[in-house]
Order: sequence, then C-alpha cells, then structure tokens
Amino acid sequence: MIHGTPQAGQAPWRAELAAAVCDPEELLRALGLPAELLPAARRAHRLFPLRVPRAYLARIIPGDPQDPLLRQVLPLDLEERVVPGDARDPVGDLAAQLVPGVLHKYEGRVLLTATGACAIHCRYCFRRHFPYAQANAARDRWRPAVAHLAADPSIREVILSGGDPLTLGDDKLADLTRALEEVPHIKRLRLHTRVPVVIPSRVDEALLDWFGRISLPVVMVLHVNHAREIDEAVVGACTRLRKAGVTLLNQAVLLAGVNDDADTLTQLSERLFEAGVLPYYLHMLDRVAGAAHFAVEETSATGFLDVLRARLPGYLVPRLVREEAGAAAKLPVFAVGVDGGCR
Ligand SMILES: *Cc1c(COP(=O)(O)O)cnc(C)c1O
Ligand code: SF4
Repeated sequence: MIHGTPQAGQAPWRAELAAAVCDPEELLRALGLPAELLPAARRAHRLFPLRVPRAYLARIIPGDPQDPLLRQVLPLDLEERVVPGDARDPVGDLAAQLVPGVLHKYEGRVLLTATGACAIHCRYCFRRHFPYAQANAARDRWRPAVAHLAADPSIREVILSGGDPLTLGDDKLADLTRALEEVPHIKRLRLHTRVPVVIPSRVDEALLDWFGRISLPVVMVLHVNHAREIDEAVVGACTRLRKAGVTLLNQAVLLAGVNDDADTLTQLSERLFEAGVLPYYLHMLDRVAGAAHFAVEETSATGFLDVLRARLPGYLVPRLVREEAGAAAKLPVFAVGVDGGCR
C-alpha cells in the first residue's frame, strides 16, 4: 500500500512513503512558488501523478522554479507537447516481456519488475506510460517469473527493478530472493532503486538484516542526478549499505535544466564518491512522450564527458549510454568527428 494514512506499529519508512506530497497545490505552497504554476501542474499531474517524499522536498530550495531537484518532480505544461518521434514505450519494454514482469533483453541478465510503485515520480521517467498493473511480477505472480528464470541456465544475474523494488516490504523481498537463491545458475542479485536517495530511512535494521541473510552478492544501482540530492541522511544510508556488503553504483539521466553542464556532472561524481558510490551510467534521455523538454543533444553530452575525463579519475567518469530497442546492450555514445556523418 502506497497511499493512505500511516498505521500504528508500522516502520517509519512506510509512514514516510504514505506521507509523500501528491497534491500540486501543496507542493507549490510548501515551496513558496507562484500560484500561476498550478493549472498546468494539475493538468500534467493527470497525465502522470505528482509524488514527492518529504525527505526529498526538504532538499529543494524554496522559491526557485528552476531548482534542479524541483524540475525532476514538478508537473509542467511542457509535458502536454506532442513531439514527433516520441513514444509511449520508447525502449521496447512491452515487446521484451515474455512472462509478466520479466524483461529479458540482454544476455545473462534479466530485469524483474517486481512492483509498479515508486516512492517518487520523476517527470522524465521512460516508464511513465508503462502499464504496470498488468506488467509486473508483484504479489503471487512472481512465481511464473521465477520459473522462467529457473528454466534458462544462461541467466546469471537478476535485476529487481520496477517501479522501485524497495517500495516492497521486507517480507515480500525475502520471499522473492529465497526463491531466486534456490536457482543454482543465478550468481548475482542487483537492485535498481531510488528509494535510499529519496527516503533514506528505508535503509533500516530490517532491510540490512535481509541483506545479511542473502547468500548472493548484491549490487545496488542508485539513481541520483544532482549532487544536492545527497544530503547527510543519504550518506548515512549508503554507509550502512556498504557495511552490509552491498556494492553501490549510480545511474543518472542527462537532463536539460537539471545536470546538463560539466561542472554539475563533476560535482555529482565527487559527491557520489563521498557517499561511497561509484558512477556507472549516464543515460541519454529516452524519447518518451511528455519529456522532450529534458532532452540534451548528443554533441553537448559528449562534450561534457570530455571535460569529465580530463578532470576526474577514470573511476569517477560515468559511461555515457543510450538505449535502443532491439540492441544487445546499452549503447555507448561517442563524439562524432567534425566531418563524421549523420547519426
Ligand atoms: C538496462 C537493462 C539491463 C542492465 O544492463 P547493464 O548494462 O547490465 O546494466 C538489463 N536488462 C534490461 C531489460 C535493461 O533495460
Ligand atoms: S524512481 Fe525510477 S522508475 Fe520510478 S519514476 Fe523515478 S525514474 Fe521512473
């Protein structure tokens, strides 16, 4: 359960999840933003609902409509624009789904959408139109998903994704991973999650106990786009995860008005390292309907990466990638030579 009132005896993170700001008017009021933004925010909220946990809200600087954290969550009239080439399922997720909740696109690793719920709603999300109600392996429906994984010995890594797998309760996570542990060819468990960033209290004793009991090595890929998303509570959550033996990586999305300059990206890598997290991917935005205003040109992107490579140790430079439906992996994005052809 995501919405609704917190219940007695419930873990604090559950109360935080339930208490997220989901009303555009409340968001604008809390941040002292102009009421003129409200009608458009309400309309875009109907396309993809607003959702901001209060721990994240507290990091947004009040009174600044251009704040890079706010831009990731504030519904805007720009989302109503229809742009040729944009798609509702830009990366071919529906075509790649063999069993509900199983996305098997790449060799050796599968993505399991264990839930459709997220703790925060990111306006640029490429899954904003994804039909999660049908396409997830939540509740008891993960059994066919696990049966599919067990029948394919080429699968060595299972990625719990979503939605956000850490919106699931510890019991459900434990049930699912126990079933995965029984499959001998599965060697690694990966989680793609934004929850430790937006609700750091989720990384509590019960979750750490669960990590302690898992026999598989665990890799957690966080999702942070801007250095200011990492406050001391997030550093604390990352430190606890690392002590529990979890390998921490980060994926970010290159977003206009959020992190589209070399200085901001440098600060992000530096701050991630301070939290014990190494940058993994920097994704080019997927062409999802409603998010065109976040797009950054590839020539700008490769330029930022050149600056990062010159400034930072190699392990703090993320791989710049884009996703193409039908490709065998995320595709690296390279600078095109001055006379280099069309793309
Ligand atoms: C991104 C993705 C992965 C993971 O790719 P890596 O390059 O291993 O991080 C796996 N499966 C699907 C369907 C994906 O979209
Ligand atoms: S947390 Fe991830 S899956 Fe959920 S809305 Fe944000 S980007 Fe999309």
